[in-house]
Formats: sequence, structure tokens, C-alpha cells
Amino acid sequence: MQIKLASAAAAAAIASIGIFSSACAGAAEIYPVDKARFMTNAKFDFKVELDSVVDRGDVSIKINGEDYRKVLKGDEVFVGTEIDGNASAVWMRGVEIAKPGKYAVTVSGKGGSKTVVWDLYATPQKRRAKNVILLIADGLSVGHRTAARIMSKGVENGMYNAPLAMDDMPHMALLGTSSVDTIAADSANTASAYMTGHKSSVNALGVYVDRTKATQDDPRQETIAELIRRKTGMAVGVVSDAELEDATPASVVAHTRRRADKADIVGMFYDVKPEVMLGGGSAYFLPKSTPGSKRKDNINYIELFQKAGYELATDREGMMKASEKADRLLGLFHTGNMDGWLDRHQFKGNTVKKFPNQPDLTESFAAAVKVLEKNKEGFFLMLEAGLVDKFSHPLDWTRSVAETIAFDKVVETAQKYCDAHPETLLIVTGDHTHSISVAGTIDDNKPGRDSREKVGVYANAGYPHYEDKDKDGFPDNFYPDKRLAVFFGAHPDYYETYRPFAEATFTPAVKNEKGEYVANAVYKDVPGAHLVEGNLPRSEPQGVHTVDDLVVTARGPNAEAFHGFMNSTEVFRVMAEALALGR
Ligand SMILES: [Zn+2]
Repeated sequence: MQIKLASAAAAAAIASIGIFSSACAGAAEIYPVDKARFMTNAKFDFKVELDSVVDRGDVSIKINGEDYRKVLKGDEVFVGTEIDGNASAVWMRGVEIAKPGKYAVTVSGKGGSKTVVWDLYATPQKRRAKNVILLIADGLSVGHRTAARIMSKGVENGMYNAPLAMDDMPHMALLGTSSVDTIAADSANTASAYMTGHKSSVNALGVYVDRTKATQDDPRQETIAELIRRKTGMAVGVVSDAELEDATPASVVAHTRRRADKADIVGMFYDVKPEVMLGGGSAYFLPKSTPGSKRKDNINYIELFQKAGYELATDREGMMKASEKADRLLGLFHTGNMDGWLDRHQFKGNTVKKFPNQPDLTESFAAAVKVLEKNKEGFFLMLEAGLVDKFSHPLDWTRSVAETIAFDKVVETAQKYCDAHPETLLIVTGDHTHSISVAGTIDDNKPGRDSREKVGVYANAGYPHYEDKDKDGFPDNFYPDKRLAVFFGAHPDYYETYRPFAEATFTPAVKNEKGEYVANAVYKDVPGAHLVEGNLPRSEPQGVHTVDDLVVTARGPNAEAFHGFMNSTEVFRVMAEALALGR
């Protein structure tokens, strides 16, 4: 490994990495963590967790050999005791570093020393992009893309009739999504990696997870929305079909180690006030006195946002109409996660009857852009297709692939916007993957004692019978007699039925009297179904995220920075460079 060193002192410090005594007065952890690679002039909290109770005078904190206070220039807070009085800590909140390069941070006490190394990068001084559009399909995997391409575009004699819009972009890379604490990440820290440029831990948004229990006091990192507010006059938009407080949309504004702090996350949206917020999750905006509210207080955030100048929309037509004139738009279309494309347009299952006028994501995208582009300084828009993931967890591949096609329609619309507005950086990706894979086809007309025998592989697979006569890009029927055979590799016990479920999302496993998840017997008597034994611990009710790489595609200013394999934090860097946010 080759490391370019900022100074001889850093060299000496780097050489001592790993020398860390567990005796008293050593450093247990330093935040930002070792190997953090982040941007100049972006705010972060610095924390040193010592492994015992110490006198401040017995601890030295040096950065590249100098007293750290000369480099970070903030107000130090020494916490004599934390974690039940067992250890001391040193804090410096809201600091930033102006000069790029390697920074070796060494904490030494009576009991030993610890060093971490940060890698600071700068950005150009001048903006290259007027707008940045980041489109994230939560959980988007290669299997989703392939199934969506077959079902939406068709394939004949081995040749695809057309690529998906998300394929048809000039720059592509693979992204690694692992987090600080684990190789298998969740959507909180994966989205935070995009929004802050720092890796974090499972369930954490915009913070490193420190050792104290409180969920909102952890070491923070500035999000791209906060940087945009501080350094530019741009507008910010957040669109999702999940709850707006769910991990991916929340990552634009939130700082908490607990993504489930959803009521507080609404307050964090209120602090940043993105000009556009469209999605589900109204239950956390409403005071507890309102039926259906999930708040524990009587704050009415809908009213607060309206007082702050937001137009409110609660259905598709209201959103379209409001987007014409509004320069601030709050659209809440469901108390929880919105319904998917397949339920809204074909199955009429799940909660469509209760919420009959939810917009398509393409409509939300168009409404968001209409509002955001009123700001002549440009805009940042993060749109999440959250349901690709929500339907992949319960192994409902039909619904999740329909969502992938719906997401691709957003990409198509965004590509047209970029054709007309080439000063826009467009990035399309997922945030982690699922274990979804296309194995061949299933043909109801094949003989066999159960549906398993009707699966065709290799030459027996042939081609499925999806048709798109109305040319909307979606199969007219998602349940033809010969359809794709799609399976998940990591799953609980379940009954494989080889068919879609129109009434409601598939529920693969349910808890038994021992508290273990077993196959849901509701599907036992579906003709041809059989039991598939799980390969995950019996505590897992659903399929899980996988560690497999993500695909990212991009176009526009600075998109050429995407190539080869990259860590997910580089998505932040590419956007920040395009907007010159490190200045
Ligand atoms: Zn997920």
C-alpha cells in the first residue's frame, strides 16, 4: 500500500498504528474513524473516547504532530466521565479542515496510544453542475435490472430490444456498500455514505455510532443538503414512495444513530426545510390527537410547514396543481409507505382502496422538478424508489420488479430533462442489494407433479410470454402462463408458489410459539407449492440485504468520475465536486 504523507510526523504516527494498550488512559476510539476519507471545509464532530477515567492533562491529542487544537480550531469539551462513570471523552463539535491531505490523529495517555489516519480531499473552486439529480432504487440489484429489462423491453434471439433507461448512460461503476461496523449494511448508513461522504454503522444517519446510549448525541457529519444551504443558494428536494422519515429520504437531513427516531426526523426536515418533500409517512407529521398519528407529542408539522410557506398536497391532482405555482411543496400521500405501481395500476391490492389517488413516481419527479427549477441557482433532488426494497424483503419479486420498471420510467424522464438541461449531473443507483436472481422461466403448461417441475432452465427455459400491447413499458399481465423464474438466495423458511399474489404482498414466514420464523402456512395449499427450508437464522422473518456490489450509472458534469470499483462514499465526492462544495 502506498500512502502519500503530509509530513514526517504523520509518517511516524502511521508507523505506530495498532500500538494500543488496553491499560488505562489509552484511546478506545477516535471519530472520524481510521481510513475516513472526507471533504475539506465540511463540518464534522471530533470525538476521542478514552478507555478509562483520566485527567485531561494526562492525555495528548496530536494531528500530524501538532496540538490538535491548532488544526481543528473549535471549542473543546472534556467529559470527565461517561458510560456510567467508567471513562472520559474529549469532544470538539462542528469543526472543519481546509487543506487536503493525510491527517494522522494520535491520542496518547499513560496507558498507551492510538492513531487513526484521515484522507481529506478538496473540490474544484468553481461549480460544474447547475443541478444534481440522485435517483436511488432502494435494494436495486443486477437481478432486478435484468428481470425488468426482459419484462419491460423484451429479448429475442438473445438480443434485448432496448436497454433500460438506467442502463443507457455513458458512465458506470460498481459500488461497495459495507459500513463501519459490518460488511452487510442497511439503508441508513448506505444512504448516509452518499449524503455525507462518511461511512457509518447499521441504523445510523449522519453520525458515527459512539459508545453512549443516547441516539442523537453521536459525532455528526454535515449532509449535502446542509452544505448546499450553507454554501449555495440552491433548492433541495426529497422524493420517496416510502415514508419520508424512512432511512433513505431521512439521510438528506438527519443526524441520529437510530433510524427509528421517525418523529424526531420530521423535526430534522423542518430544520433544513427542503423546498420539496413528497412521499408517504404523514402519520409522523400529525399531532397525536389526530387519529392515525404516530407522534407522541402534539406538534402539528403539517401546520408548521404550511406556516413556513409550503403548499400542501395529499393526492396526485393536488400535487400536480400545486407544483405549477408553489416554490415550496409538501406532498403526503399515505400515512405509511405508499402503494406500488402494480397494486395501483393492476392488482388493486394492499391499501390502494384506502388511498386511491397516490401519484406515480414519475409524476412526483415532474412535480418536484417544476417547483425546484423556479430557483435560478439550481437544485439538488434525491428521489428514492423505496418499494424495490420493501417488496424484495418479503421475496415478492413480481412487485419489486414492477417497481424497478416504474423507477426506470423516472430515469427516462430524468434523462429527457438532462437532454434539455445538460448542466445537470444525473446519478442512478441503488443503496445495497438483495439476493435476487433470474434462473429461467416457469411454464404452467409443462407436465410435472408440482410447480418445481415446471421451472425451465438452460434450453428448457426458452422465452417468457410477457406482452406490452399498450406500449407503456409495463407487461399488460404480470402473470402469464409462461413467466420468469426468479428466486432469492438468502431467505427464511417459506412456501414457494411460483406465482404472484394480487391481493397483498407475499408474507413468507410467521412466528411460531417458540418465537422462531417458520413458513407461512397460508400458502401451503396453493396448487403446486412446496416448502423451501431457509438458510438464514430462524430469527429472520424476511430476506436480507446482501453485500454484493451495486451498479451506478451517470451522465452530465463530473459523471466521468465514475469508473471501475468505488466505495459508496465516492458518490458524495462526485456530487460535491460537481457543486464545488469543498470550497
Ligand atoms: Zn431493506
